[in-house]
Amino acid sequence: MPPQSLDARALAALAANPGCGRRALLDGAGVPKAALAQALGSPSGFGQSQFAFMRGHAFEARVKADGGTELLRLTHACLGGGPEPEPGAASVPDLTAAGPEGRAARTELALDEASAARTWTLLDHPMLALDVAGTPAFLEPDAVVVAPDGTWTVVEIKSFPMIDGSADAAKVGAAARQSAVYVLALEQVARRLDPAPEVRHRALLVCPKDFSNLPTASAVDVRKQLAVTRRQLSRLTRVEDIAATLAPGTTFDVTRPAAELAAAVDAVPATYAPECLAACELAFHCRDRARAAGELTSLGRSLRADLGTLATIDEALAAARGEAGDPDDPAVSALRRAGALRAEALAGGVRCP
Ligand code: SF4
Repeated sequence: MPPQSLDARALAALAANPGCGRRALLDGAGVPKAALAQALGSPSGFGQSQFAFMRGHAFEARVKADGGTELLRLTHACLGGGPEPEPGAASVPDLTAAGPEGRAARTELALDEASAARTWTLLDHPMLALDVAGTPAFLEPDAVVVAPDGTWTVVEIKSFPMIDGSADAAKVGAAARQSAVYVLALEQVARRLDPAPEVRHRALLVCPKDFSNLPTASAVDVRKQLAVTRRQLSRLTRVEDIAATLAPGTTFDVTRPAAELAAAVDAVPATYAPECLAACELAFHCRDRARAAGELTSLGRSLRADLGTLATIDEALAAARGEAGDPDDPAVSALRRAGALRAEALAGGVRCP
């Protein structure tokens, strides 16, 4: 089975849960996680519905219509970059070539030419190669805009609405993480050019305005996501270390029986959190395991962080009942106090106001 190549969504999800060895190993090995989840009997509901896909596709076509006139106007309005673009005057180079390597080379050439020409240029679905632990991952942003001042901007076009100028924070966060991956890949291209152009660390997020189909945009600062992604990708080289802890002969071959696969998957440590549900195909499998083990992270990372040294729900309940835990630990003493208040309230009955 050919390995599944890493895409920006997978790389961004890795950065969102940097402590998960399971995801790092499976992605590093190119295991198709959706097929694995299916074989484990916990298929994910992850992914877009056909309707959402079609709607997103139609919106993107609208944003890029007329040679990208509206898209370039939004870029200029949010980020500047030189004189206002004339409608229909921007250059939209043809990026077709054979295979991902050919398309990446063609994109690099177009970026180089656009930077030298210093005109508004729209690269529609360029192909970028990012070196990840020695293997190229091929990434395809929605668009990259080259402005007359020579700067390069990543454009993400999403179909969730921006209402009164702001959108769902979780969705914007996911888009920012994805954009950061593209910025990293663009920076690798920029470093090969002389002089090296500036890649903006603010991506342009384009969404439907309010409840209409009209595009609106906002500049999203991706510096934090960039730092996290960079650090996480540099950690990916340790995939060999994770693999070295597994028994010889361990396989993630999705045609193997479910019990064998489950044993192989469970042998790799994971750090499940509810955020996985929106980012990883194995989420339902890992959630079941985390709940069965009573892990506190299954209730949310912030709760886990609040309870410090306590790692399981049983430990937290025992601490609340005063049966376990160090009373000098602030989390334990807070739980004991909460437990006592609860017992008191239950003993006295509940009063309605
Ligand atoms: S769902 Fe499982 S494998 Fe995926 S990131 Fe979460 S813990 Fe890791």
